Amino acid sequence: MKNVITIDGPSGSGKGTISKLLALKLGYDYLDTGALYRAVAWKVREKKTDPENEEDLKKILGNIKINFKGDRIFVDGTDVSSDIRTAEIGELSSQVSAKPAVRAALFSLQREMGLQGKVVIEGRDTGTVIFPEAENKFYLDAGIEERARRRYEELKDRAQNIEHRTQTGNNMLTIETVMEDIRKRDLRDSSRESSPLMKTDDMVYIDSTHLSIEEVVAKILDHLK
Ligand code: C5P
Repeated sequence: MKNVITIDGPSGSGKGTISKLLALKLGYDYLDTGALYRAVAWKVREKKTDPENEEDLKKILGNIKINFKGDRIFVDGTDVSSDIRTAEIGELSSQVSAKPAVRAALFSLQREMGLQGKVVIEGRDTGTVIFPEAENKFYLDAGIEERARRRYEELKDRAQNIEHRTQTGNNMLTIETVMEDIRKRDLRDSSRESSPLMKTDDMVYIDSTHLSIEEVVAKILDHLK
């Protein structure tokens, strides 16, 4: 399968930025699968649903309508593009994404979206579960300190100190508190039973710790040649 390029990796590995740029350079569509899990988490919070109750989650999944329009994402007609980027929704999305019912519901949606044309699809299981048959699969990684630094800059830019503080119980948004969150999320994403984050032998491994965005994209383009 040549039309689909998968990019998996942990939080802060840069896969979002890289995938977007790669898609732009290749003239492919870009599918951010993390945004789908965040969209479900947004609805779970909106409905005050218990994220541990799979029956209640199934009710939400039966009704939810998620659409992309350009780079905006809509849940049941509401533009949630900014709201889903908070630290709180990041944490909640990691929690709900461990539930098999959530993964099953989003599986078909991702296959459908991915099969519409040429696409760069990024997430945690795009090369292992969603498109295992893709010919070009990448695993993007970076050291935890660098990943925490990148996430910290991103959250700081979004001025989400207050939200982060409430969510973690920590007094301040610091690289250390962000690193703590990332560690927790890494552990949950890699140790869950349902589609854990995993590098397989058929993926090209790229460590972006000391590479610029352009350098990573150039490496990927090199492999595609
Ligand atoms: O990549 P992002 O931080 O937006 O993803 C949010 C959460 O969604 C991740 O922590 C992960 O738990 C979950 N996720 C997933 N599978 C994907 C993409 C995201 O489990 N393919």
